[in-house]
Amino acid sequence: MVGSCHPVVVQSMTNTDTADTTSTVNQVIALSQAGSEIVRVTVNTEEAARAVPKIVETLRLFGVQAPIVGDFHYNGHILLKKYPECARALAKYRINPGNVDIGKKTDDNFRTMIECAIQYGKPVRIGVNWGSLDGALLVRMMDENAISPNPLDAAGVMKEAIVRSALESAEIAERYGLGHDQIIISAKVSNVQDLVDVYRRLAAECDYPLHLGLTEAGMGSKGIVATTAALAILLQEGIGDTIRASLTPEPNGDRTEEVIVCQQVLQSLGIRSFTPQVAACPGCGRTTSTFFQEMAQQIESYLRDKMPVWKGQYRGVENMKVAVMGCVVNGPGESKHANIGISLPGTFEEPVAPVYVDGKLTKTLRGDGIVAEFIAMLDEYVAHTYGAEQVLKG
Ligand code: SF4
Repeated sequence: MVGSCHPVVVQSMTNTDTADTTSTVNQVIALSQAGSEIVRVTVNTEEAARAVPKIVETLRLFGVQAPIVGDFHYNGHILLKKYPECARALAKYRINPGNVDIGKKTDDNFRTMIECAIQYGKPVRIGVNWGSLDGALLVRMMDENAISPNPLDAAGVMKEAIVRSALESAEIAERYGLGHDQIIISAKVSNVQDLVDVYRRLAAECDYPLHLGLTEAGMGSKGIVATTAALAILLQEGIGDTIRASLTPEPNGDRTEEVIVCQQVLQSLGIRSFTPQVAACPGCGRTTSTFFQEMAQQIESYLRDKMPVWKGQYRGVENMKVAVMGCVVNGPGESKHANIGISLPGTFEEPVAPVYVDGKLTKTLRGDGIVAEFIAMLDEYVAHTYGAEQVLKG
């Protein structure tokens, strides 16, 4: 369930050839295991449409329950009609109003897709993207703007057209019989401030659930920061029901990064918790070796690797806070604020590492086995704290 009072949902999209069933299944499994709660696949060819039912069936055999959404452009009306098993297997259809002839004299393509959604009881995402905005609508709005007493600048008309395209398409879908509660809207642009403007307008003008995402966010830190900036502003205002980070992975890079980024945005804002958070200091001249960074990284990876099992065993463990600090300046203080924290020795400090558990100095580690011993303490803390809570509540 999405929208209304339901939690904000993390989405992702595969970049495999959907016709390649094995690769697509493997990537959906990886995305789902990373925490993607909805996965979209492109359905662009007859081969892809034929593969969809097998993909969904195989995922269910592997116990992966994430809804699979079909992303359609240009030929969705043909594929959904010709491959009813595909239409049935998908959980939702994404329709881009910019390329289904909507607004033309004959918008049969759009109508056909809506009729399929009604026939198979599927919701639809009206997914506008400024890179493929309905050209006829934009021209009409440019003409209207030209004779307006208070004309907007070109960017203003573009944003207005994006909003109108989404809302008018949803209105037409309802006129064709699709339920109001079967529609979700997205309207993606690649500029942060424009995205915020567009979604504020949408949120003010409709009550459809909104899928957020900065389109074509880009690579590396640029993509992550721009996505975070855009999503954080909107989520903080209570706008957004599902989110995606449209990051460009490194060649052969890990597609699951987009899932982690979405989770981290939600967790950093205190909207949802997914995995224990590690507070680590940036390090400075008092940390002369890489041991501290390596340990912080090891602990973070350990926690993430453990979560698929822990989340089924230990209720609330995703809210745990762990501190891995570089020296005694802020180390003990930050450790006391965490559920469990360690403060490593800085330069010229005594080679010992005090561990604080629930704010109290519990043990002082020393020697080569600090990481292993701290992990053992973590395991014990989790079992004792969150296992006990689960037993009590159960
Ligand atoms: S806690 Fe210590 S090592 Fe870390 S940044 Fe502060 S002074 Fe530097």
